[in-house]
Amino acid sequence: MKSIILQNLHDVQYRIQNAEQQYGRVAGAVKLLAVSKTQSAEKIRLAYEAGQQLFGENYLQEALAKQMKLTDLAIEWHFIGHIQSNKTKLLAEHFSWVHTVSRAETAIRLSKQRPHHLPPLNVCIQVNISGEQSKDGILPDQLTELARQIINLPNLSWRGLMTIPAPTADKTEQHRQFAELRLLFESLKVNYPTLDTLSMGMSADLEAAIAEGATIVRIGTAIFGERE
Ligand SMILES: *Cc1c(COP(=O)(O)O)cnc(C)c1O
Repeated sequence: MKSIILQNLHDVQYRIQNAEQQYGRVAGAVKLLAVSKTQSAEKIRLAYEAGQQLFGENYLQEALAKQMKLTDLAIEWHFIGHIQSNKTKLLAEHFSWVHTVSRAETAIRLSKQRPHHLPPLNVCIQVNISGEQSKDGILPDQLTELARQIINLPNLSWRGLMTIPAPTADKTEQHRQFAELRLLFESLKVNYPTLDTLSMGMSADLEAAIAEGATIVRIGTAIFGERE
């Protein structure tokens, strides 16, 4: 198991470096977030020992249970799942980043509940670019209003945007969706120049995401194998 995870991590890092080079990105501009949902604490430990430090989780209770087993490691924990409004306190206490903020009330709660001994909680706004009704995320035309409400919250650091596009094997369509998020990001940067994060790209489409400006790619399957 150890050698497979090690090999997979190397392969993913290689894909990232290649894409950075191919698409004219600065070397090292793209961070790798290892998505460990449904994977064991033991596997996370192996990936950490291989040099991986950023891990993303989707389910709060599952994440907390694994965090308890890994307190000896300097992992940076990112929450990338659906936010239930009665769970914001635990998110504010146990994560460095939350990628999936899409409502002002959630942001306000996270800021209020962030413990004062911790640095500000880094957040991204999740955007629903495909406009599918079933999906989490704010619609693009509501983004400026949410930005205005989030920017001054004292215990949050709003870093940028995140999206989960409609899955497609069509490369042109992958690029088109990621480019849409990048355009929104660039127009926000006019008013909010400190924004520095575009969280987009998964195992199947990280190259397209990097071509369109991703700064964090969220990779599960390509590191840990298929989820059960
Ligand atoms: C599961 C998940 C990923 C990782 O997807 P893979 O295809 O396994 O790389 C990335 N982002 C989010 C939000 C996820 O839920």
